[in-house]
Amino acid sequence: MSRLIVVSNRVPVPDKRGTAPAGGLAVALQSALKTRGGLWLGWSGQSCAEDAVGPLRTVKDGNIEYALTDLTERDVEEYYQGFANRVLWPICHYRLDLAEYGRREMTGYFRVNRFFASRLLPLIQDDDLIWIHDYHLIPLAAELRRLGVKNRIGFFLHIPWPSPDVFLTMPVHDELLKGLTAYDVIGFQTDHDRNNFADCLARQDMGHRLDMTRFVVGERAFTTKSYPIGIETTEFAGLAKRAAETTLHKRMLQSLDGKELIIGVDRLDYSKGITQRIDAFETFLTRHEESQRKVTLLQITPKSRSEVPEYEAMQRAVAEQAGRVNGALGTVDWVPIRYVNRSLRRPALAGLYRMARLALVTPLRDGMNLVAKEYVAAQNEDDPGVLLLSRFAGAARELKDAVLVNPYDVEGTAEAIARSLVMPLEERRERWKSMMTVLCTNDVFAWCDTFLEDLAGGKAEESGSH
Ligand code: UDP
Repeated sequence: MSRLIVVSNRVPVPDKRGTAPAGGLAVALQSALKTRGGLWLGWSGQSCAEDAVGPLRTVKDGNIEYALTDLTERDVEEYYQGFANRVLWPICHYRLDLAEYGRREMTGYFRVNRFFASRLLPLIQDDDLIWIHDYHLIPLAAELRRLGVKNRIGFFLHIPWPSPDVFLTMPVHDELLKGLTAYDVIGFQTDHDRNNFADCLARQDMGHRLDMTRFVVGERAFTTKSYPIGIETTEFAGLAKRAAETTLHKRMLQSLDGKELIIGVDRLDYSKGITQRIDAFETFLTRHEESQRKVTLLQITPKSRSEVPEYEAMQRAVAEQAGRVNGALGTVDWVPIRYVNRSLRRPALAGLYRMARLALVTPLRDGMNLVAKEYVAAQNEDDPGVLLLSRFAGAARELKDAVLVNPYDVEGTAEAIARSLVMPLEERRERWKSMMTVLCTNDVFAWCDTFLEDLAGGKAEESGSH
């Protein structure tokens, strides 16, 4: 079996106690790497002065080798905070208004990708399979090909791919599209994303389609398909069951004092629709006065990317909004919204999901949304809660039995909350069972295996660029 090399912006290196930061992607890739042995390369998270980038640091854990590189402060500013998070992220989430183009950042993005390629090159062996992840590293394969690498290289995009009308507003769109054609397999979360990508190629008159999944651009042929990412369903369900025994769980139950729990869990990000959700919850409480004092929304929102101005502004806006609703509707012994700005560990989260009668997962746009899947996996099969899910999350294409909403429609979402809270047990069970079947079939291990089979399966593609 060929060795697997994974490359992602950040790398989940196990800490001194041997526990890696948990997360579906980390768990799946680690398990794939463990069986076949392999290498995981990425940024260490540390930045340094221009002339102080040292050699790769490697950490060995079983038969996985982690290789970490520092980046310069300028690299981090231009590649990571700049082009990746202030251009690609907003564009891929349909926020044209938030994209900040700057020549310096664009140049930095391509420069850092070249740098990653130069760090990876000496480590590559002939029959290694190389799997590159996410929007930070789109041009990496093209840079590797330029250096003469002929290995099979796959790419998986974890976030949405927008329609051509949005994507083509980006000044360097053709370079990114061409960059992608250097891969052998390009994976997206949904068929919708894959079709958007294909539409971009067609709109730019780049190459042609051979069949449903295969394209030719110039002298390169590649496969492009959707591979919806899953979670470690069975393990997560077990985690949630065990959480009922913990002190946190008992304390939480006590503090609810018989009130129904509604839960929202999202990184603080404008793509997650948190303000629209709080508006919908407020509308629901105002229109259904009988529910006041009977429900509590626990909104867990760890801060993220605080160095990017839009995120900093949003941090203030959401905190003010939650405070305003609590001030307007709360009573001396009831707080409508418990707003928590910290990150919780997965076992605690699993227990809270299980306790919640309803989850509000209402992103304005999301590649997949793993919280939606985790909430379903965590439910008690005898008395499962309801998932209220945005139709603009990738997960909605699989979880058709969730209560699907348009998060821009605040009143519609408020009414969906009301309906979900009184949904009969039988309907809740039916919906849950059907969603759970999907999650057990398409778990994260299946995702990983399917992608790697496609990557390993094809014969070497002809590349005119070596
Ligand atoms: N998560 C966590 N602690 C928190 C909040 C979130 O561990 O306090 C995890 C959550 O369980 C999920 C992931 O972070 O696995 C979020 O993934 P998702 O696809 O929903 O959103 P993303 O943050 O990747 O956009």
